[in-house]
Amino acid sequence: GSFIHSYGTKVFLRPRLDMVQDAVAQSRFNEKKWVWVEDIHLGYVAAHILKEERDLVQVELENGSTAFTSPDKIYPMNPPKFDKVDDMADLTFLNEPSVIYNLAMRYKSNMIYTYSGLFLVAINPYRHLPIYEEDCLQAYKGRRRGEMAPHIYAVADQAYHDMVRDKENQSILITGESGAGKTENTKIVIRYLTTVASEHTKNDATNHNADRLGQQILRANPILEAFGNAQTIRNNNSSRFGKFIRIEFNQRAQICGANIEWYLLEKSRVHQQSPKERSYHVFYQLLSGDKETKEKLLLGSSKPSDYGFTKGSNHVIESVDDAEEYRKLLDSLNIMGLSSKEQMDLFLIVAAVLHLGNISVTKDYRGDRADIRDFAAVERVCHLLGIPAQDFKNSLLSPRIKAGRDWVNQSKSPSQVMSSLDALAKALYERNFAALVERINKAIDAQKSIDKIGFIGVLDIAGFEIFEVNSFEQLCINYTNEKLQQFFNHSMFELEQEEYQKEKIEWSYIDFGLDLQPTIDLIEKTNPVGIMSCLEEECVAPRGTDSRFLEKLDKVWDSGDPEQKYKSTRFKDGFVVKHYAGDVEYCTTGWIDKNKDPLNEDITRLLARSTNRYVASLFEDYLEDNDESSIGNLYANRGSGRVRSTLTLLKLRKGGGSFRTVGQRHKQQLLSLMNTLYMTHPHFVRCIVPNHRKRSGEIQTKLVLDQLRCNGVLEGIRICRTGYPNRLSFADFRKRYEILCPNLLKPNCFIDGQSACQSLLDDMALDHEKYRIGATKVFFKATVLAELEENRDKKL
Ligand code: ADP
Ligand code: MG
Repeated sequence: GSFIHSYGTKVFLRPRLDMVQDAVAQSRFNEKKWVWVEDIHLGYVAAHILKEERDLVQVELENGSTAFTSPDKIYPMNPPKFDKVDDMADLTFLNEPSVIYNLAMRYKSNMIYTYSGLFLVAINPYRHLPIYEEDCLQAYKGRRRGEMAPHIYAVADQAYHDMVRDKENQSILITGESGAGKTENTKIVIRYLTTVASEHTKNDATNHNADRLGQQILRANPILEAFGNAQTIRNNNSSRFGKFIRIEFNQRAQICGANIEWYLLEKSRVHQQSPKERSYHVFYQLLSGDKETKEKLLLGSSKPSDYGFTKGSNHVIESVDDAEEYRKLLDSLNIMGLSSKEQMDLFLIVAAVLHLGNISVTKDYRGDRADIRDFAAVERVCHLLGIPAQDFKNSLLSPRIKAGRDWVNQSKSPSQVMSSLDALAKALYERNFAALVERINKAIDAQKSIDKIGFIGVLDIAGFEIFEVNSFEQLCINYTNEKLQQFFNHSMFELEQEEYQKEKIEWSYIDFGLDLQPTIDLIEKTNPVGIMSCLEEECVAPRGTDSRFLEKLDKVWDSGDPEQKYKSTRFKDGFVVKHYAGDVEYCTTGWIDKNKDPLNEDITRLLARSTNRYVASLFEDYLEDNDESSIGNLYANRGSGRVRSTLTLLKLRKGGGSFRTVGQRHKQQLLSLMNTLYMTHPHFVRCIVPNHRKRSGEIQTKLVLDQLRCNGVLEGIRICRTGYPNRLSFADFRKRYEILCPNLLKPNCFIDGQSACQSLLDDMALDHEKYRIGATKVFFKATVLAELEENRDKKL
C-alpha cells in the first residue's frame, strides 16, 4: 500500500539529503517572520510577527487570530529546508519548539529515529515498521553515521566497530519512561550484535560454539521477561527491573560470552497489583501450562482466579496466549541448558508463592492473636518448600525473637502475620529471580576466554519518574538517573573538549556534569549525612521511625540556603529534591520498612535448612552459626562450584551485615555500574512514548516535551549551545557560502582550505566570538549559520 510505497526500505534507509530545497515553501516562508509561540495547551504554535516592540510582540497565529505576547515567549522558526533534519544539532535555531516540531514531523512520516547531537532519540511507533528486516540490518553494517538514516542499528554498528577497532569497551545507555520502547530497542541491539558477530564465525572451527552462545544470549531475554515483566496500564510487557547486559568479544570480533546484571525488581507486584494490571507473566504462564507439571506443583487444574495474589488482577492480555508463551519459555530454558530438575525448581518457587497467598489468617479464640485454621494451605506450601509444616505455622504465628540474652516466643496479630507472609512471598520470588539470572550467567559466561578484547554493555533502565506520590522506589530510580545524566554531561564535555583540542581551537568549555553534584551529594554523601545514609542510620536505630528519619534530615539539610537542592515540605510527610529534571516531592511514609525489608527470621532459618537443596540455597545467608556444620555438609554433599557462588552472591546481596538494606545494595550496585560505564565509550539512546494510549501515529506535544526535559535531550542542547555546535569542513563551508563574497576567491588560483575560510569570514565581517577556525573545520556558535543561510537565500 501507500505505506510501503512512501516508506519502503529502500527509500527509508537513505539519509535525508541535507537541506533539501523546496522553492515554493521557502519563498512562502520568506514572506513573513515566522516564530513559535508558547501555548499552555498545545506547547507551541506557529505564528508570524505583525508588530514588534521592545516588550510586546503582536503575532498572527495559524488559525488567523492575533495575539500579544512578550518577546521571551517566542522562538524563531527554522526555514522549511530544515524540516525533518536527521540530526537536530544541525538546526540553526536550536530551541524547544523546533526540536519538538522536527520530531513530530518525522514521526508522522514513520521516521521514529532522530539524532540530537550525542543522543539517538527513538519514539515508540506502536506498530510494526519494515525497518528491522535482514536487508536493513545488512545495509547498516560498517556504514558511517551520516551515510544512513538515523537508526538503532547505526548505534549498534558504531559501538561494534569502535570496540573492534579501538579495543575499547562500549556502552549503550537506553532510558525512557515505561512503554517508551527501551526493551524493544535493547533486543534489537542484541540481535544486531549477535547477527553481525556471527558472520565472522563462518568458516571457523569454533563456529558451532559461538552460534550456540549467540542463541543462548538471545534466549536470555524471553526467560527474564517471563519472570521480570508484567502487563501494566502503560505497557503490556513492562519490565519491572533494570538490566545491564554485557556482551564480550574476542580477538576475532566474535562473541565469547555475556553477563547480565539486574537492578531493583518490583517485588511488591507479587502480592498486589493496581487495577487492570497483572502480576509477573510466569504465574499466568505456569497456570496455563501442562497438566503433569501443575499436578506436581499441587496446582491441579486451577486458574489465576483461585489464588489470593492473582485473583484481583487482569487474567489475560489482549492477543497474548499464555500457554503458547509457556511453551516458548520452556524452549528457551532448554536452549539455555537448564535441566528439567532446575526448571522444576524455578517453577516450584512460583507455585509456592501462589500457595502462600492462599494461607488465610484469622483471629484466634482470644480475639487478638493470629490463627490459621485451614492447615491444608500451609501443608501445600511446606510440602513444596521442603520444610516441616507445624514448625512453619509456629514460626509464623509466634516467632522466636531475642529478648536480651534469651529467646522468647512472641505472638503476632493477624495483620502482622499477613505482612510477614507477603514479605516471604516477595523474598522467595526475588531470590528465585536472582538465582535464575545467576544460572543464565553461568550458561553464557565468557568461558575462560583468553583473547577477550572488550565488551559492549547495554543498559535498559527506567528513566526519571515524577508521579503524583513519589516514594523510596522513585528516589532510587531518580538517584540512578541523576548519576546517568551526570555521566552524559561529563561525556559530552570530554568529547567536545577532545574535538576542540584535536582541531586546536581555543575553548573554555565547562564540565556541566558538576552541575548535578550537589543533588547527588544530597542523596549519597555520608558527611554531612545524605538522604540514603540518614535512612540507614534510622534503620539501625533501636526505635527508628519514618518521622524521626524526616526530622533528622530536616535538621541536616533545611538550612534555608536558596542554593540548597533540598526543601522540606510542610504539607505531607516528605521532602523535595531539586533534580535536574525538576523538583520532586517524596513522601517518606513506610521508608524504614521498605529499606529494611524485614523477614521473619524464624522462617528463613527453616528455609535455609530445607530438604530441597535449591530452596535451602536461596536462603543460605540465614544459616546460623550453629548451622555451620550444615554448610560443611552442603559443600560435602554437592561439592559444586554453584553452591559456593550462590553463597557468595547471597552474602553480597544480604551482605553478612554490610549490605543489609535495599538502599545499601542499590547504592553499591549503582556505584559498580558507574565505575563500569566510566571505563566505556558511551552511546546514548533516549526512548520516548508518544502518547499514553498505546496508539500509533499520535504524538502529544506536551507529553513529549516533558520527556525531552527529563531525559536530558534538552539539557544536551543547552550544553551544546554554550560551545560551537555547528561545524563544517572547509570545503563544505566554501562551497555553500562562497556566494556571499563573490569575486573574493579567484577560481583558478590555489588557496588552502583554511586560508580560504579565513578570507571568506573576514570578508563577511563576522564577529570573531561567533566562530572558530580549526585544523580541518570551521566551528560556529548557535544561530550564526542561520544568518549566513538567510543572506545566502537573498543571493539566490
Ligand atoms: P519499555 O521497555 O520502555 O517500557 P517496551 O520496549 O517494552 O517499552 O515497548 C512497549 C511496547 O511498545 C512493545 O511491547 C511494542 O509493542 C511497542 N514497541 C516499542 N518499540 C517498538 C518498535 N521499535 N517497533 C514496534 N513496536 C514497538
Ligand atoms: Mg522495558
